[in-house]
Amino acid sequence: MITDIQPSEFNNPSLEVLISVERLQARIQELGAQITRDFLGKDLLLICVLKGACIFLGDLVRNIDLPLAIDFIAVSSYGAASKSSGEVRILKDLDASLKGKDIIVVEDIVDTGLTLSYLLDIFHRRQANSVSVVALLDKPSRRIRQVDVAYVGFEIPNAFVVGYGLDYAERYRNLPFVALVKDENI
Ligand code: 5GP
Repeated sequence: MITDIQPSEFNNPSLEVLISVERLQARIQELGAQITRDFLGKDLLLICVLKGACIFLGDLVRNIDLPLAIDFIAVSSYGAASKSSGEVRILKDLDASLKGKDIIVVEDIVDTGLTLSYLLDIFHRRQANSVSVVALLDKPSRRIRQVDVAYVGFEIPNAFVVGYGLDYAERYRNLPFVALVKDENI
Protein backbone atom coordinates (compact mmCIF):
# COMPACT_ATOMS: atom_id res chain seq x y z
CA MET A 1 0.00 0.00 0.00
CA ILE A 2 1.30 3.48 -0.89
CA THR A 3 0.94 5.97 1.96
CA ASP A 4 0.63 9.63 0.98
CA ILE A 5 2.56 11.50 3.67
CA GLN A 6 1.52 15.18 3.82
CA PRO A 7 4.00 17.78 5.16
CA SER A 8 2.84 19.68 8.26
CA GLU A 9 0.80 22.79 7.48
CA PHE A 10 1.84 24.34 10.80
CA ASN A 11 5.59 23.98 10.18
CA ASN A 12 5.74 25.18 6.57
CA PRO A 13 9.30 26.49 5.88
CA SER A 14 7.92 29.24 3.59
CA LEU A 15 6.14 30.82 6.56
CA GLU A 16 7.54 32.67 9.56
CA VAL A 17 5.47 33.16 12.73
CA LEU A 18 4.78 36.88 13.21
CA ILE A 19 2.20 36.74 16.02
CA SER A 20 2.11 33.62 18.18
CA VAL A 21 -1.00 31.84 19.48
CA GLU A 22 -0.28 33.17 22.99
CA ARG A 23 0.09 36.82 21.89
CA LEU A 24 -3.10 36.61 19.79
CA GLN A 25 -5.16 35.16 22.61
CA ALA A 26 -3.82 37.61 25.22
CA ARG A 27 -4.56 40.63 23.01
CA ILE A 28 -8.05 39.37 22.09
CA GLN A 29 -8.84 39.03 25.80
CA GLU A 30 -7.85 42.69 26.25
CA LEU A 31 -9.95 43.81 23.26
CA GLY A 32 -12.95 41.86 24.57
CA ALA A 33 -12.62 43.44 28.01
CA GLN A 34 -12.37 46.93 26.48
CA ILE A 35 -15.45 46.36 24.30
CA THR A 36 -17.34 44.95 27.30
CA ARG A 37 -16.65 48.17 29.23
CA ASP A 38 -17.44 50.50 26.29
CA PHE A 39 -20.71 48.88 25.14
CA LEU A 40 -22.43 48.18 28.45
CA GLY A 41 -26.19 48.80 28.06
CA LYS A 42 -26.05 49.12 24.23
CA ASP A 43 -27.94 47.16 21.57
CA LEU A 44 -24.76 45.52 20.31
CA LEU A 45 -24.38 43.85 16.91
CA LEU A 46 -21.04 42.51 15.66
CA ILE A 47 -20.68 42.37 11.89
CA CYS A 48 -18.07 39.89 10.70
CA VAL A 49 -16.48 40.63 7.34
CA LEU A 50 -16.09 37.22 5.68
CA LYS A 51 -14.13 35.21 5.23
CA GLY A 52 -10.95 36.47 6.87
CA ALA A 53 -12.45 37.72 10.16
CA CYS A 54 -14.38 34.54 11.04
CA ILE A 55 -11.73 33.03 13.34
CA PHE A 56 -11.12 36.38 15.07
CA LEU A 57 -14.88 36.84 15.58
CA GLY A 58 -15.14 33.41 17.21
CA ASP A 59 -12.46 34.19 19.79
CA LEU A 60 -13.51 37.83 20.27
CA VAL A 61 -17.19 37.19 21.09
CA ARG A 62 -16.17 34.68 23.76
CA ASN A 63 -14.31 37.51 25.47
CA ILE A 64 -17.20 40.03 25.38
CA ASP A 65 -19.33 39.63 28.49
CA LEU A 66 -22.47 41.34 27.16
CA PRO A 67 -25.66 40.33 25.34
CA LEU A 68 -24.92 40.68 21.62
CA ALA A 69 -25.93 39.51 18.15
CA ILE A 70 -23.71 38.63 15.19
CA ASP A 71 -24.22 38.99 11.45
CA PHE A 72 -22.04 38.35 8.41
CA ILE A 73 -21.21 40.23 5.23
CA ALA A 74 -18.97 38.96 2.44
CA VAL A 75 -17.12 41.32 0.13
CA SER A 76 -14.84 40.63 -2.78
CA SER A 77 -11.22 40.29 -1.72
CA TYR A 78 -7.90 39.99 -3.51
CA GLY A 79 -8.74 36.53 -4.83
CA ALA A 80 -5.67 34.46 -5.50
CA ALA A 81 -3.33 37.46 -5.81
CA SER A 82 -1.68 39.29 -2.93
CA LYS A 83 -2.29 42.80 -4.33
CA SER A 84 -5.38 44.95 -3.81
CA SER A 85 -7.59 45.54 -6.83
CA GLY A 86 -9.23 48.47 -5.02
CA GLU A 87 -12.60 47.12 -6.15
CA VAL A 88 -15.22 46.27 -3.51
CA ARG A 89 -18.30 44.16 -4.24
CA ILE A 90 -20.86 42.73 -1.82
CA LEU A 91 -21.05 38.95 -2.31
CA LYS A 92 -23.34 38.27 0.67
CA ASP A 93 -25.29 40.98 2.44
CA LEU A 94 -26.38 41.17 6.09
CA ASP A 95 -29.49 39.29 7.20
CA ALA A 96 -30.96 41.92 9.52
CA SER A 97 -31.65 45.66 9.66
CA LEU A 98 -29.10 47.96 11.31
CA LYS A 99 -31.57 50.64 12.34
CA GLY A 100 -30.88 51.88 15.88
CA LYS A 101 -28.15 49.30 16.54
CA ASP A 102 -24.70 49.92 17.96
CA ILE A 103 -22.55 48.00 15.56
CA ILE A 104 -18.93 46.88 15.63
CA VAL A 105 -17.46 45.89 12.29
CA VAL A 106 -15.05 42.98 12.84
CA GLU A 107 -12.21 43.01 10.29
CA ASP A 108 -9.21 40.75 9.91
CA ILE A 109 -6.85 43.40 8.56
CA VAL A 110 -6.99 47.01 7.41
CA ASP A 111 -4.59 47.57 4.54
CA THR A 112 -5.43 50.36 2.05
CA GLY A 113 -8.67 51.06 3.96
CA LEU A 114 -10.74 50.89 0.76
CA THR A 115 -12.87 47.92 1.83
CA LEU A 116 -13.59 49.34 5.25
CA SER A 117 -14.44 52.88 4.10
CA TYR A 118 -16.89 51.41 1.57
CA LEU A 119 -18.53 49.26 4.28
CA LEU A 120 -18.68 52.12 6.80
CA ASP A 121 -20.49 54.32 4.25
CA ILE A 122 -23.09 51.60 3.70
CA PHE A 123 -23.62 50.95 7.42
CA HIS A 124 -24.05 54.66 8.20
CA ARG A 125 -26.63 54.97 5.41
CA ARG A 126 -28.56 52.06 6.93
CA GLN A 127 -29.13 54.19 10.04
CA ALA A 128 -27.09 52.35 12.64
CA ASN A 129 -27.03 54.24 15.95
CA SER A 130 -23.23 53.98 16.07
CA VAL A 131 -20.58 52.32 13.93
CA SER A 132 -17.21 51.25 15.38
CA VAL A 133 -14.47 49.03 14.02
CA VAL A 134 -12.30 46.34 15.56
CA ALA A 135 -9.46 45.06 13.37
CA LEU A 136 -7.11 42.31 14.42
CA LEU A 137 -4.29 43.67 12.25
CA ASP A 138 -3.47 47.10 10.88
CA LYS A 139 -0.97 48.02 8.16
CA PRO A 140 -1.02 51.83 8.57
CA SER A 141 1.80 52.40 6.06
CA ARG A 142 -0.42 51.15 3.22
CA ARG A 143 -3.42 53.40 3.87
CA ILE A 144 -5.04 55.12 0.86
CA ARG A 145 -8.38 55.99 2.51
CA GLN A 146 -8.35 57.21 6.13
CA VAL A 147 -10.66 55.16 8.38
CA ASP A 148 -11.31 55.38 12.09
CA VAL A 149 -10.44 52.04 13.70
CA ALA A 150 -11.34 52.23 17.40
CA TYR A 151 -9.84 48.87 18.41
CA VAL A 152 -6.65 47.50 16.82
CA GLY A 153 -5.11 44.17 17.80
CA PHE A 154 -1.64 44.62 16.31
CA GLU A 155 0.05 47.08 13.97
CA ILE A 156 2.17 45.16 11.47
CA PRO A 157 4.69 46.18 8.80
CA ASN A 158 3.91 46.21 5.09
CA ALA A 159 4.11 42.49 4.37
CA PHE A 160 1.68 39.82 3.22
CA VAL A 161 0.46 37.68 6.11
CA VAL A 162 -1.58 34.49 6.42
CA GLY A 163 -3.13 32.43 9.18
CA TYR A 164 -5.77 32.93 11.86
CA GLY A 165 -8.44 33.42 9.18
CA LEU A 166 -6.23 35.09 6.56
CA ASP A 167 -5.62 33.14 3.37
CA TYR A 168 -3.35 32.82 0.41
CA ALA A 169 -5.50 31.42 -2.44
CA GLU A 170 -7.96 30.11 0.21
CA ARG A 171 -5.24 28.23 2.12
CA TYR A 172 -3.73 28.78 5.58
CA ARG A 173 -6.87 30.16 7.29
CA ASN A 174 -6.58 27.31 9.81
CA LEU A 175 -3.15 28.30 11.15
CA PRO A 176 -3.61 29.21 14.84
CA PHE A 177 -0.98 32.02 14.50
CA VAL A 178 -0.32 34.88 12.04
CA ALA A 179 2.61 34.22 9.72
CA LEU A 180 4.69 36.16 7.21
CA VAL A 181 4.94 34.69 3.74
CA LYS A 182 8.68 34.49 3.01
CA ASP A 183 8.31 32.81 -0.37
CA GLU A 184 5.30 33.57 -2.62
CA ASN A 185 5.62 30.13 -4.25
CA ILE A 186 4.09 28.47 -1.19
P1 5GP B 1 -8.02 46.94 2.09
O1 5GP B 1 -9.30 47.24 1.41
O2 5GP B 1 -7.87 47.60 3.44
O3 5GP B 1 -6.83 47.20 1.21
O4 5GP B 1 -7.94 45.39 2.27
C1 5GP B 1 -8.65 44.70 3.20
C2 5GP B 1 -8.71 43.23 2.86
O5 5GP B 1 -7.61 42.80 2.04
C3 5GP B 1 -8.60 42.41 4.13
O6 5GP B 1 -9.86 42.25 4.74
C4 5GP B 1 -7.99 41.12 3.63
O7 5GP B 1 -9.00 40.27 3.16
C5 5GP B 1 -7.12 41.55 2.46
N1 5GP B 1 -5.70 41.69 2.87
C6 5GP B 1 -5.02 42.84 3.08
N2 5GP B 1 -3.77 42.59 3.47
C7 5GP B 1 -3.66 41.24 3.54
C8 5GP B 1 -2.59 40.34 3.91
O8 5GP B 1 -1.46 40.72 4.28
N3 5GP B 1 -2.88 39.01 3.86
C9 5GP B 1 -4.09 38.53 3.47
N4 5GP B 1 -4.24 37.20 3.47
N5 5GP B 1 -5.12 39.34 3.12
C10 5GP B 1 -4.89 40.67 3.15
